Amino acid sequence: MIEKLICIACPMGCHLEVDVEDDYRVEGNQCNRGVLYAKKELTNPTRIVTSTVVIKGGIYRRLPVKTNGEVSKKLIFKVMEEINKVEVSSPIKCGDVIIKNVLNTNIDVVASRSM
Ligand code: SF4
Repeated sequence: MIEKLICIACPMGCHLEVDVEDDYRVEGNQCNRGVLYAKKELTNPTRIVTSTVVIKGGIYRRLPVKTNGEVSKKLIFKVMEEINKVEVSSPIKCGDVIIKNVLNTNIDVVASRSM
C-alpha cells in the first residue's frame, strides 16, 4: 500500500510516496529527514501542542503556551483538556513551566511569551 505525504521537516515540502508494505520505503524525498519523517508519521505521529491559558493581571486575558516537545497525536485532546484547567497570574516569563510533565509524558507545557 502506498501512502502519500508532504514532508513538513523543512520548507521544501517534498511530496513523499511511502510503500508501507516494503518497510516504509520512501520516494520523493530530497534528504534522509524525509525518510525519518514518513516512518514516524505513519507509525507514531507526534506534534508540538500550542494553546493559551487564562492569566490574571496580564496585559491580555490569555497567555500563549506550548509543549516543550512533541506529544503523540493520540494525546493532543487530553493535553488540551489539561491546559484548559489552568489559570496563572502575572508576571510570567517566557519559558516558565505552566504544567510539569503533562500526562506523564516527560514533556512540560511552558509559556511562549512573557506577560
Ligand atoms: S525530504 Fe528533506 S528536503 Fe524534502 S521536505 Fe523533507 S526535510 Fe525538506
